[in-house]
Amino acid sequence: MRRALLAIAIAGAHALAPLGEGDAAKHAARSAAASVRREVVRTQTPRATCDTCHRPPAVCVCAALPAAPIKTETSLLVLQHPNEFRRRHFSTTPLLPLCVDRCAVRVGYGFEADDLPQFRDAAEPPLLLFPAAGAAPLDAAAAGAGGRTVVLIDGTWAQAKAMARKSPSLFASATPVCFADARASALEAVRREPEAHCVSTAEAAARALRLLEPTAAAAEAADRIEASLRLMVDHQLASIRDRPRERNARVDRQ
Ligand SMILES: [Zn+2]
Repeated sequence: MRRALLAIAIAGAHALAPLGEGDAAKHAARSAAASVRREVVRTQTPRATCDTCHRPPAVCVCAALPAAPIKTETSLLVLQHPNEFRRRHFSTTPLLPLCVDRCAVRVGYGFEADDLPQFRDAAEPPLLLFPAAGAAPLDAAAAGAGGRTVVLIDGTWAQAKAMARKSPSLFASATPVCFADARASALEAVRREPEAHCVSTAEAAARALRLLEPTAAAAEAADRIEASLRLMVDHQLASIRDRPRERNARVDRQ
């Protein structure tokens, strides 16, 4: 819609020139057309993002990331609701593959176990972090021989429940696990989680790595995930602090 309106504006600016009186009118028409062309370039140029963390430069989290994703024995598989993928600049999931080498993210409303190599080729059923009835506490005992895959669902609680309904074979093929106790989310300052067990996906992944894998690599990966998450929260708080001033300025002008 915006592009169509701008195209009409450009055509209108050119059409003005023959009707004007002398050079002043032509100059005004050229100036209007140039200003519209600048607006077209501005609105059609993609926002610059960091090459590594793919976030706008003002909210880049690379300072907290490892030089390369860390190789852990545990693998992560994030099943992400498409709505979360669309709001990825606010999602914590993109931090995970930057910190953990064995991390895959799949986007969809529902999943079949046979479509996922983490399920199809697994020697032991993956651990599905989901507060289902009968879910076992996630601890070192759940890790078994090591190298397990932890599956995390990334979405609001309502989206996660809908994804569970649409993924019966996946839920039947996994071992449901949950955290033994609720823990406050680092994101509390910037968003309100509806239930005590709804920590962010990145926080859940970091905690699962610590509980399942007693290695220096897992500890380092968890530290990096949490550090990048804290930096992301700091950026969001800074932007919230700046917003009321902008709103007040608009009110003052009215
Ligand atoms: Zn970055």
